[in-house]
Amino acid sequence: MQIQSIEAKKIKLELLQPVKIAIGTLSRSETVIVRIVTDDGIVGCGEGSGVSFVTGETADTIDGAVRVLAEALIGRDALGIDRIHRIMDRTLVHNTSAKAAIDIALHDILGKAAKLPLHRLLGAVSGELETDKTVGIGPPEQMVRDALEMVVLGFGQLKIKAGLDPDADIEAVRLIREAVGPQVRLKVDANQGWSAKDALRAVRAMAECGVEAVEQPVPQWDTDGLALIRAQSPLDIMADESCFSPRDAALLVKREAVDLINIKLMKCGGLHRAMQINAVAEASGVGCMLGCMMESRIGIAAGAALVLSRPNFKYADLDSFMYFHEVPAIRGGFVFETPHIRLADGDGIGVEVDF
Ligand code: MG
Repeated sequence: MQIQSIEAKKIKLELLQPVKIAIGTLSRSETVIVRIVTDDGIVGCGEGSGVSFVTGETADTIDGAVRVLAEALIGRDALGIDRIHRIMDRTLVHNTSAKAAIDIALHDILGKAAKLPLHRLLGAVSGELETDKTVGIGPPEQMVRDALEMVVLGFGQLKIKAGLDPDADIEAVRLIREAVGPQVRLKVDANQGWSAKDALRAVRAMAECGVEAVEQPVPQWDTDGLALIRAQSPLDIMADESCFSPRDAALLVKREAVDLINIKLMKCGGLHRAMQINAVAEASGVGCMLGCMMESRIGIAAGAALVLSRPNFKYADLDSFMYFHEVPAIRGGFVFETPHIRLADGDGIGVEVDF
């Protein structure tokens, strides 16, 4: 089954409101959808969503990178996904969101060729999972209001953004815990914003508020800092921006720097590499979360299929599609009933796309 064509198309996403985190603010977003057609007429859809301050990619660079990769991939066997990743990596370094778009489309094709929903093909026995929702950084009273609103809607897990000021972060977490009560499960994401010293203070205070895990407390390059915090932290320490690849994961577990890894399809290049990172983590006693950038239904459905097929995923942070108006050209994939994502029964990813 040969790859006959690979096309990319940029789609603007209209955000409901700007999303603020420690390393940047997203006020608009654009995603890139990719369509791959095989010589026997199977069509697969994928998606690349760049967040420039994490992966260094924008919709324009993803669009361009897909074109470069396409030249190297036309005529290749669409089911030889590991081989395709090797070709992509030697054709173009980095550009993980562009590679993820192609990888997701190939997994869609794999499911359609096998006549199975992707989650079933990967081994999942259920099609439903619970996702958390993210509370962005803002004035503490605003964060409390947002958190309460989410809990009223039915979310049982919240991820609180932090990392601008450790004292304000601790205070916001304390106020949110007071407001939402003891049952709601809380995680905090500092997005590289603290020093190791600040982080130690913050994780101790946040552990007292019943926070389960703190994500990326220190800059992405500071593996020593992560290891130091993890050794003294009463709660779980999770790497996000510090882990892009299976090699990063191997290094982090070797240095005993993490309890958890936040895998994102856009950081690692798609499902194939995500499964490799998860395997490294699981073999080392490290759990995983699947996170997201600003993916639409395509990326989220693919990610959910992965989470459901690998019990080492302890958390799903698959909320990006809630932050922008639905794109009429992208339909299906899953049904969302707060806080559950229920995957579609169609073959492959089960998303319908007007390309
Ligand atoms: Mg994060």
